[in-house]
Formats: sequence, C-alpha cells, structure tokens
Amino acid sequence: EICLFWFRRDLRAFDNHGFYKALANNPTVVPIFIFDPEILKRFDCETDKRLAYIIEKVKQLKKSINLQVFFDQPITVFNQLVQKHTITAVYTNQDYEPQAIARDAQVKTFLATHNIAFHSFKDQVIFHENDILKTDGSPYTVFTPYSKKWKETFNSTIFKSYPSEKLLDKIATFSISNFAIDQLPFSPQQVAINETVDLSIVKKYNETRDYPGIQGTTDIATALRFGTVSIRACVEIAHQHNETWLNELIWREFYLQILFHFPQVVTQCFKPKYENINWRNNETEFQLWCEGKTGYAIVDAGMRELNQTGKMHNRVRMVVASFLCKHLLIDWRWGEAYFAQKLLDYDLAANNGNWQWAAGCGCDAAPYFRIFNPYEQTKKFDPKLTYIKKWVPEYDEFYELLPIVDHKFARERTLTTYKKALDNV
Ligand code: FAD
Repeated sequence: EICLFWFRRDLRAFDNHGFYKALANNPTVVPIFIFDPEILKRFDCETDKRLAYIIEKVKQLKKSINLQVFFDQPITVFNQLVQKHTITAVYTNQDYEPQAIARDAQVKTFLATHNIAFHSFKDQVIFHENDILKTDGSPYTVFTPYSKKWKETFNSTIFKSYPSEKLLDKIATFSISNFAIDQLPFSPQQVAINETVDLSIVKKYNETRDYPGIQGTTDIATALRFGTVSIRACVEIAHQHNETWLNELIWREFYLQILFHFPQVVTQCFKPKYENINWRNNETEFQLWCEGKTGYAIVDAGMRELNQTGKMHNRVRMVVASFLCKHLLIDWRWGEAYFAQKLLDYDLAANNGNWQWAAGCGCDAAPYFRIFNPYEQTKKFDPKLTYIKKWVPEYDEFYELLPIVDHKFARERTLTTYKKALDNV
C-alpha cells in the first residue's frame, strides 16, 4: 500500500504543505513528478531556461527524496499506476490556473472510480479562494481594501509551517517508474536561479525598489513561481522587516484570487468596455518593440534585458507595457503573450493582472489617461542612465532622435482612441 505525493509547482522537500500532510498521515509515501508532453508542446524545449530549471530541480529531488519521474499525460500515468499498485491516496498542492484546475478535476474523478482519494492543499499562497472576501461575501477587485483585510486576517491567524523535511523517513526506497531523466528528448542549457531572500535588500526595499540600475529588488519571483522557496518563509521575513515588500507579496495573491474568481480574464478585459478599443496592432511596430528597437532608450533597454536574460525590472516592465498598449496602441494580449514566452518568472495570474493594469482594462488598473512618459521615467528612475547604458551599449545623445512614434502625438492618439471606445458604451 502506498500513498502518492504529486509535485508540480512546489519543487522543494521542505516546508511543503501537501507533502507534509502526505508524510504525516501515511506509512509509505512515493513522491512523483510528471512531465506532461501536452504542456511541453507549447514550449521550445531545446532552449527554454524554465524547463532547464525544472529538470535540474527534478534531478535534485530524485537524488534527495527518491522522486519517481514519468513522461506522459497525468491521466495515463495514474491509469497505469492503479493497475500495478495498491494506492490509498494521492496528495498534491493546489494550482489555480484554469487548465490545471480542469486537469486536477479530471484526475480526481478518475481516482474516485478506483476509490482513491485526491487531497489538494494550499501551499502556493497564504490566502486563496474564499479566504479573503468582502463582508457581503463577494471577492475583492480593488487592491487596497483587499490588502487591509489580508493583513487583518493574517494577524489573527496562527502562523504554521509544514516541516516536511522532518518526515522524510516515510519515503519509499523502491522504484515505481523506469523512466530516467536522461531519456527526455531535450536538454536545454541550465541557468542560475536565485532561491534566497537577501535580507539587506528587503530592509531597504522601499528606497531601492524603483531603480533598475541597482539590485534593489529580491529577484525571488522565479523561485516563488516554481515553489523552490516557501511563501510562508518569505511572508515571515516581509512581516518582520518591510511592509512595502509585504505589499508586493500581497499583490501576488491578489492577482491569483482574481484569476480564481474571474477566470475569463485569461482572454478578456476585466472591464468589458475596454474590448471596444480599436487597437492598431501594427505588426512591424510590434516586432520593433520585441527587439528593443523603438528609439526610446528605456523601452529598448528593458526589452533587450528580457530577451537576453529572461528578466526585467518591475519599473521597466510597467514602462514597456504602457508603451506597447498606449504609445503603439497594440493589444495588451500581444505583449502578455510575448512576456509569457520570455520571462523566467512567468506566471499567468501576475502577468495577466499586470498587463491588464498597464492597458487600463484590469481590475484596479491605472486610469486610461495615465500615460507613462518614457523620458520622465528615465529622469526619475535611471538618472545616471546606468540601466540604459548596460542594455543599450550604443546609446548616445542621438539615440532618441528618431523614435518609432513621437511622444506627444502618441499621447493624443491614445487619449482619443480610449475615449472613443469608453464613451461608446
Ligand atoms: P520584488 O520586487 O522583490 O517583489 C517580491 C515578490 O512580490 C516578487 O518576486 C513577486 O512574487 C511579487 N510581486 C512583486 N510585484 C508584483 C506585482 N506587481 N504583481 C504580482 N506580484 C508581484 N511577476 C511575476 O511573478 N510573473 C510575471 O509573469 C509578471 N509579469 C509582469 C508583467 C508586467 C507588465 C508587469 C508590470 C509586472 C509583472 N510582474 C510579474 C510583477 C513584477 O514585475 C515581478 O514580480 C518582479 O519584477 C519580480 O522581481 P523580484 O522578484 O525582484 O520582485
């Protein structure tokens, strides 16, 4: 008799809620990971650094906790496993993306037909689903009251951790898969991902976070995305040391609960009347934006940083996103899709929420008439041009003389286009 623990976006053996519960409640636990070819089809597997990171983590877990690896669709894997083994239950941590919810529902139904329970735990966030609701029982769609309620609830909750690392002797020593990771049909090049929160950065975060030329943010988003760091540990640090940083972690949960309650945002504007915007969607201009060749130095620096490293500073993400939607009048969904391909920390909820914020069509979004001025943003946040010169080495006083579009002209065009769309309804 065995219990399975299914790792997904929680690739760590310590302080892991579902893993802890599986180990605590069962005599023998077999940890598994499934490479799903249906998901992999969407990526360029030979080059994707995120996949390289997953592979590296899976290899580590295989060594340290005898992780059993499979390469097939989850339902097929479970179908084969129930034929061969007596499985008492499957434990996992919850995933909030619509496709994952659908997959888990399918697996749960399948397991139920074999009388196997499927237990799913909250691990990726402190609060989820209906944990934080307005007094009338509806979800929050504005950040400030959400974060207030989040903090009140947090302060009145006993803070728990889940020391799965103390129960590893419950792990089965035998093998139930004969798939070796070397059999994967691709081997993307590895990349170093930061997995620790630098306390000295957190302590100064409110003063340093807006300056892309310095290391003023924690660079922990990718580890949070793949669960190689525990959100509970991060929140504890934030709670003790810096409220501004805590607010950022709450933004992450805010967008996750928006996605959970309003899954239509994946394809649609949160505010429906913004669907009336007459996007120009000029493909040549989009290409220039992607390549970092707009003639706006701060935009170009950001896009080149993204293309070369898979990272981009948050301040610059806001600038390039606003520029695409407003200066170029290109549908936010194009930018969102491009970020999804490139960002190491790509996360559906955060990316979608922030793109809709930039375009003005999201919940609690920037008002449509707020149009970032790239020149002013540079003066304020990269005054010595440190960031720009790093990513646009050919930058000189002539660089911005021939921009893709004139700022004043673009600003007027945006205001007219948005106003027309919003007045129409
Ligand atoms: P820090 O500044 O140290 O913040 C700590 C953590 O808080 C981050 O790691 C992240 O988990 C969370 N966080 C911070 N800001 C936000 C935010 N605005 N929304 C949600 N969570 C936040 N973040 C992603 O994790 N994945 C994405 O796909 C993503 N796409 C974005 C797209 C656009 C257009 C914009 C404007 C922002 C996007 N962000 C995204 C939010 C933010 O830019 C990154 O989380 C941040 O830059 C990551 O760097 P850091 O780890 O140093 O963050």
